[in-house]
Amino acid sequence: MDPLKPSIVFKEQKKCSKCGRVNKTKAKWCKSCRSQHRKNKRQQDPVLHWAKAAVRGAKRRTGSCSVTAEQLKSQAERQQLRCCYCSRAFQWFNRRSGRLSPTVDKVVPDDGYKIENILIACRRCNRVKSDASLQELKGIVKGIEKWKQS
Ligand SMILES: [Zn+2]
Ligand SMILES: [Zn+2]
Repeated sequence: MDPLKPSIVFKEQKKCSKCGRVNKTKAKWCKSCRSQHRKNKRQQDPVLHWAKAAVRGAKRRTGSCSVTAEQLKSQAERQQLRCCYCSRAFQWFNRRSGRLSPTVDKVVPDDGYKIENILIACRRCNRVKSDASLQELKGIVKGIEKWKQS
C-alpha cells in the first residue's frame, strides 16, 4: 500500500439521480448530466434559450431590463424568426459572433429595454445601426447620397 496516497472516503457518497454515477458535487445531478440537460433544452427551444441569455446579458450590462425572455421569444416569433431590418433568417446555433445571430435592438437607444422599444435584429444590422437615433441614421444616409451625386 502506498502510504502517501490517502484512501479517499466520501462521507456522504452522493449519486447522480440521473445516471447513478458517484457525484462529487452537492447538486442533484453530476456535471455531465447537467451539461447534457442544458444542451437538450437548447435544442428543444433555441429561441427561448437565446432569449434567456439575452435578458441576462441586458441585466448585466444595464442593471435593469423589464423585458422577459418570454416577451423576447414572442417578439422573435412575430418577426417570423427574421431580422427586423434586413429580413434574413436568424441563425440560432451560430457562434455568438455570427453575423446572423439574433440580438436585441433598442429602437430608440436612450429608451432602454422595454418591450415597446425592442426589435430583434441580426448582429450585422445592429452593429451598423449601433446606438444611432433615427435622425442620425438619416443624416448618414443623406451624407452618402450627397457624396454619390457629387
Ligand atoms: Zn449523471
Ligand atoms: Zn439584419
